[in-house]
Amino acid sequence: MSFDNHEQVVFCNDKDTGLKAIIGIHNTVLGPALGGTRMWKYNNEWEALNDVLRLSRGMTFKSAITGLNLGGGKAVIIGDAKTQKTPELMKKFGEFVHSLSGRYITAEDIGMETSDMDLVRDVTPYVTGISESRGGAGNPSPITAYGVFMGMKAAAKHKFGSEVLEDRTVYVQGIGHVGEALVEHLSNEGAKVIIADINEERLQTVSKTYGAEIYRGSDIYAEDMDIYAPCALGATVNDGSIHKLKAQVIAGAANNQLQDEIKHGAMLRDRGIAYAPDFLINAGGIINVYAELEGYGKTEIIRKTENIYNTTLEIFKHSEENNSTTHTAALNIALDRIETRKKEANK
Ligand code: NAD
Repeated sequence: MSFDNHEQVVFCNDKDTGLKAIIGIHNTVLGPALGGTRMWKYNNEWEALNDVLRLSRGMTFKSAITGLNLGGGKAVIIGDAKTQKTPELMKKFGEFVHSLSGRYITAEDIGMETSDMDLVRDVTPYVTGISESRGGAGNPSPITAYGVFMGMKAAAKHKFGSEVLEDRTVYVQGIGHVGEALVEHLSNEGAKVIIADINEERLQTVSKTYGAEIYRGSDIYAEDMDIYAPCALGATVNDGSIHKLKAQVIAGAANNQLQDEIKHGAMLRDRGIAYAPDFLINAGGIINVYAELEGYGKTEIIRKTENIYNTTLEIFKHSEENNSTTHTAALNIALDRIETRKKEANK
């Protein structure tokens, strides 16, 4: 297990509430480490540790490339959100967050609701994503979807010469909070949208609402398509899927889409598939919660999210000029920003 230069990793345990959590603080050079809390039924503590380390590192680069003054952090709670999440457990978790004095600021992730963040807010100010009635910025998913849409358009511009998605065939894998909002943008633009999900009820609802076709096949990666939009789980771009992929563009919301960033990034480049880096194009959510800390409003949120289009185009240009993968190009820009800030601070 690599600790990937994490500044601090905190193990939280409380016998009374059953809380078992890990907070990962990867880097605080640009600002406090902000990232959501995920509650998941991990098989063991190593699995949870591995997840929090990967996710918190990703947050550092996401905020850096988006130009936010935030560092990278993330938290995981080990357990079943459906059966083991109680108000007492969430408040205890909030106390652990508070004990870090603002080095880590939490938010919502898988297994969390806005109401959980409100419970955390009862014991600490170091939380974002609280309800609008309590001064929060509300649900980040529509903004995340808009950013993904912008990134997808930039990738299409790079690959096809036009950002117009009308008549493009787009497979959206996962039509949850973000996926559904993405389907709406795509349908409005006249794209041919095909949706896949393991939840039949959602498939029916989203299909009816936006006129999207439901995918009934068994090997989505092998289907003819222009664009593949992973909006469910990570690591779907891997040894097993890349050689089958017919898509010319990959642009979606899921975190950590490449199972191995270096190897699979290079395989995509060799196959001429334009990959819009996940941590760049799914940054709408963090832009939305950052507004709570900085006090900016919806207009600025939209402006910053639309800028994902320009940054994505810039990344494609960099990767071509330097003969690198888009993932590496994006990572290098993020790292440069962190290094520059470090040098300024040491002057
Ligand atoms: P969600 O839980 O609302 O939706 C996920 C959907 O994927 C669900 O409908 C689920 O049934 C489906 N799914 C799960 N496994 C699947 C599979 N094997 N095949 C097809 N569908 C499957 O989550 P969300 O908030 O929409 O987030 C989607 C992804 O985007 C996640 O990876 C998340 O980490 C990432 N993300 C979300 C945000 C945000 O603002 N919500 C921000 C950044 C990144």
